[in-house]
Amino acid sequence: MFDSLQDNLKGAFKTLRGKGKLTEANMREGLKMVEQSLLEADVSYDVVKEFMHGITKEALGEKVMLALEPSEQFIGLVNQELINLLGPVEDGLNLSKDINIIMMCGLQGAGKTTTCGKLAKLLMRQKVKPMLVAADLQRPAAIDQLHVIGEQVGVEVYSDRDNKDPVQVCRDAVAKAKADGCQVVILDTAGRLAIDEELMEQLKTIDRDVQPDHVFLVVDGMTGQDAVRSAGAFHEALELNGVVMTKLDGDTRGGALLSVKHVTGVPIRFIGVGEHLDDLEFFRPEGMAGRILG
Ligand code: GDP
Repeated sequence: MFDSLQDNLKGAFKTLRGKGKLTEANMREGLKMVEQSLLEADVSYDVVKEFMHGITKEALGEKVMLALEPSEQFIGLVNQELINLLGPVEDGLNLSKDINIIMMCGLQGAGKTTTCGKLAKLLMRQKVKPMLVAADLQRPAAIDQLHVIGEQVGVEVYSDRDNKDPVQVCRDAVAKAKADGCQVVILDTAGRLAIDEELMEQLKTIDRDVQPDHVFLVVDGMTGQDAVRSAGAFHEALELNGVVMTKLDGDTRGGALLSVKHVTGVPIRFIGVGEHLDDLEFFRPEGMAGRILG
């Protein structure tokens, strides 16, 4: 994971480490290499600019340049700036109401339905009783897929194959969840291969009508700048308050993670690190920065 970003940054650090004491020209060369590494890893230009702004002055300041080991100080700076850019995170989920509604949205194939199952499993481990709701009425197979996942997790799945109105399905599901003593309702909404107005209108209607406590966007971490663009569009239409980035176990360049946070300003809550239903982790900027730096 993050292979190329990691390798490129390591290369930049190695160049600096080999030099012992550094001149301003050495440091500027190191900074240029870091900038290049980020751009090559799919981090958007704006984010790279902000990142470089955050470290350049300090890297060239006396505290770093006159330190015993300036290269180590420089690596520390890069690490801290990565953490700043990825964070802050909101710890856990606020599930203080009797019934808490989480609306999951995203493009088809991003990993939304799988993530619904993973989230339900995570909640069950925390002794919270969730209900999964099949609100993706676009593809009949989506309802079946959620039932299969629900069975694997051991959680109740609400669906209504005769109802063609996703808003009504969500409303009925919330009523059923209340009756069944579920504390969290996870809505698996419809995805599309590309963003279109009909999809956004449907999501907005559900959002207005059901008033979820959390609206999470699921984005595919392997799709680089496409993930960033879709995040921007969803954020414009809905008031997102969390992002789940999936497929970070694959050979991803990782830059999307940095850019999505920047574009939406919304915290990354979870990361998907595999196809298995246990492969969901709370997002930790410190851990992620450490992984990027290797
Ligand atoms: P949806 O269309 O957004 O609901 O996407 P699905 O939940 O059906 O997932 C699409 C594909 O991505 C499936 O094959 C999932 O197993 C896979 N997938 C989902 N999350 C992850 C992840 O974190 N890592 C990997 N490797 N695959 C994932």
